[in-house]
Amino acid sequence: MSQAAQSKTPQGKPGGPRGRGAPVYGRGPPGGVKGSDRPRRPRREPVEEVWVPKTSLGKKVNSGEITSIEEIIESGLRIQEAGIIKKLLPDLTSEVVDVGIIQKMTSNGQSTRFKAMVAAGNENGYLGIGQGKSKQMRIAIEKATSQAFLNVSPIKFGCGSWECRCDKKHSVPFKVRGKGGSVTIEIIPAPRGLGLVAGGKIKRLLQLAGLKDAWTTAKGSTPTMNSTSKAVLDCLRQTFSQG
Ligand SMILES: [Zn+2]
Repeated sequence: MSQAAQSKTPQGKPGGPRGRGAPVYGRGPPGGVKGSDRPRRPRREPVEEVWVPKTSLGKKVNSGEITSIEEIIESGLRIQEAGIIKKLLPDLTSEVVDVGIIQKMTSNGQSTRFKAMVAAGNENGYLGIGQGKSKQMRIAIEKATSQAFLNVSPIKFGCGSWECRCDKKHSVPFKVRGKGGSVTIEIIPAPRGLGLVAGGKIKRLLQLAGLKDAWTTAKGSTPTMNSTSKAVLDCLRQTFSQG
């Protein structure tokens, strides 16, 4: 019995001699000594997917012939690969804005699917929003993310505030209004240092776009993120149409 107890004492532990046959309770100190002599399985590194362009536009971007999104928009080409955006805007981050469950009755029972809404932005003048649906939440988010990347559009900032009149790009250049479903959103130029006056999720979208100061008004059913985010994006796209 005493032998069994001694063999259980952690190896390499400094300290005085133990009493003969002293009972050892538990498994020794957590972490530390015990953890170090056990071979650790190396953590699996996430595999970076190498982007292989499929469209001719993608090939041009990959080879460095096209270096900005504006170039693509001006030429009127459609971006069909999320990799193009990732290559041109490496600092773009994506964020899940909304998730939900779609349940419906079919002839062979109930079907459950997930939907996700993702916003992508670099907090410096680019924002895109995408939606995805799938039987698996993870795939729905993946679909929405690549959709958001494809929808990324540039935003023009400026200072349209008569109280401020600086030349810095911290607000919208003029008042813009956008619609999405029943939701109408207005973004009004604000002086520097005011911050974003907007509800939680609208505020987050504007932050992702890179807007610093603005007043906003929202009409309609704003908890519907589907409509709300479309309205926000519509608003921000207007910064180009009038200027
Ligand atoms: Zn200003």
